[in-house]
Amino acid sequence: MQFSEKILNTPSSFIRNILKVTESEDVISFAGGLPNPISFPVEALKASANHAITENGSRLFQYSGTQGYAPLREYIAAKYQRVHGLDVHADDVLITTGSQQALELIGKVLINKGDGIVIEEPGYLGAIQAFTLSEPTFYGVTLENDGLNLEELENALQQPNVKFVYTVPNFQNPTGLTYSKEKRQQICEIMSKYNDVALIEDDPYGELRFQGEPLPYIGAGKLENSILLGSFSKTVTPGMRLGFIITKNKELMEHIETAKQATDLHTNIFSQYVIYDYLANNDYMEHVQKIIALYKNQADAMLNAMEEFFPAHVDYTRPEGGMFIWATMNNGASSLDIFQKAMEQKVAFVPGDPFYTAKTGVNTMRLNYTNATPEVIREGIKRLGSIL
Ligand code: PMP
Repeated sequence: MQFSEKILNTPSSFIRNILKVTESEDVISFAGGLPNPISFPVEALKASANHAITENGSRLFQYSGTQGYAPLREYIAAKYQRVHGLDVHADDVLITTGSQQALELIGKVLINKGDGIVIEEPGYLGAIQAFTLSEPTFYGVTLENDGLNLEELENALQQPNVKFVYTVPNFQNPTGLTYSKEKRQQICEIMSKYNDVALIEDDPYGELRFQGEPLPYIGAGKLENSILLGSFSKTVTPGMRLGFIITKNKELMEHIETAKQATDLHTNIFSQYVIYDYLANNDYMEHVQKIIALYKNQADAMLNAMEEFFPAHVDYTRPEGGMFIWATMNNGASSLDIFQKAMEQKVAFVPGDPFYTAKTGVNTMRLNYTNATPEVIREGIKRLGSIL
């Protein structure tokens, strides 16, 4: 069979292969990127599933509208008005099959083969994968401790046919870094000079802040072509596959709706009813606070162990929330080599390579702390420290 260039060029196997070798029981794995399953509100979701079926009957099992369940869109709009002061209404919200689908739909709607996408370097692997299906040209911009490098951003924006800039402003995947308030303002100023270029702010982790003050979005509420992505995956459940796109650009919203219709008609309506019932009848913020306490404890355990066991040539980020720490080996060691040695010692992480669009053999690694106890985290970091 002859396969399309776009699928042949799409990165697929790297993390899957790594997760396969790290799956064995006796490996301490910091490689995954999963929320901790003890954070899923199973009993409350069970009650909501029952309640939603009793209340709505066959409507949960019928086809439904492409934009998504109206009460859920209203809930999301009201929340972004209340919490972020954004002028968002239900019609500015479209429910997607996870925010992952939002990435793919945006690529479909905005990218012709060869068009430019400006992306953080390192950047979210799943976004690189989703966008690659639209055959773009990537322009990587270095992600510094406080956000994108501004000079590189300006240069990238001057490249031909750049359609959008993709950012994860809070507790970024893979680095755990958060954009500073100043950088957010500066990026917004730069973007406001490029009216045709959209700014995507992908924010699945923003609510999981365990330190510091929440910061305003970069472009949402300010830039005409702002696209904000959200998700229930990290705060309620990833398995129900519920994310959303918020944009005030009506034309963009219409095209996204068409692309979504072509892809899957609509997001699972059963999931939408159940999560809406859950949100309407439970204290969501109290639930999120529990996840924050859990992850803070795990992040602290990892950072303390790194301080104790990592050699001086290894730098690492200190996230204020989210699920990841990013380490850099300043002696130039290749993280793929270190990965092999780490597997012999039964400890795993994700080597940095798949998070770059144009670099290999890098000296960086992603460490996830949300899926092990503080004791296991300490033991894993101790082993890794001895290898480093
Ligand atoms: N964006 C980022 C930055 C992520 O880390 C993830 C999850 N790994 C996603 C989007 C996709 O999340 P979901 O489709 O579950 O909403």
